[in-house]
Amino acid sequence: VLRLVGIRKSFEGTEVLRGIDLTVHRHEIVALIGASGSGKSTLLRTANLLEQIDDGQIFLGDDDISDPRAKADRIRSRIGVVFQHFNLFPHLSVIDNVTLASRAVHGVSRAEAERRGLELLGSIGLADKAHDFPDRLSGGQQQRAAIVRAIATDPELLLLDEITSALDPELVGEVLDLVRELGRGGTTILMATHEMAFARDVAHRVVFLDKGVVAEAGPPAQLFEHSQNPRTREFLARFT
Ligand code: ATP
Ligand code: MG
Repeated sequence: VLRLVGIRKSFEGTEVLRGIDLTVHRHEIVALIGASGSGKSTLLRTANLLEQIDDGQIFLGDDDISDPRAKADRIRSRIGVVFQHFNLFPHLSVIDNVTLASRAVHGVSRAEAERRGLELLGSIGLADKAHDFPDRLSGGQQQRAAIVRAIATDPELLLLDEITSALDPELVGEVLDLVRELGRGGTTILMATHEMAFARDVAHRVVFLDKGVVAEAGPPAQLFEHSQNPRTREFLARFT
């Protein structure tokens, strides 16, 4: 679904991504791990064209979306994104948040968008919050609503950037459970996370980013138990 080839990106002369190759296959959950500043967010942002790359190519399906002629809005409408915070529009009700893209970008009727939106909110136990504003929801409920909004248009790919790191610990589980559910349902997910236990449990593949390069990648069992790279072991040791 997503293929990054030789991605390079500098900020003010400092190279933050130093030639990243990474593929996410259909129905796959890939967890991006690595120290703060290793480039995880920047990589996710390049995949959604929020960051211009200096070198390399990005393919979404068969389309080279790094081609300067590619239409960023069209491409973004094929990708769902959830960040650490401030995902929902505060001035819109939860249901309007969830249905906005379907109606505005995909031309779905209000009635149809709301039917689907309410169904999705119902599936996460938030149907009764549909007409509230986001500030009436707990942090965990807001993040779950943000995820539902991101998938309401059936995107080809879901990008998640540290979506639980701003949450109180007791709210983390409900958000991760939803991600797990989506994965079971076949959603293709690339997520940056500090939740090592979750990455190990849910991801099909884990990619360890070290100073802008993929230092190691493989199935969770391989990385977490039989890492070939001392840098990976050193990083993971901090979590145990
Ligand atoms: P964290 O785990 O803390 O979220 P990260 O792996 O997501 O870290 P990035 O946010 O991708 O790391 O940042 C990688 C590097 O790029 C950092 O050194 C950061 O300071 C730098 N950087 C990111 N965005 C910008 C920007 N817009 N301008 C300048 N430097 C930036
Ligand atoms: Mg980050």
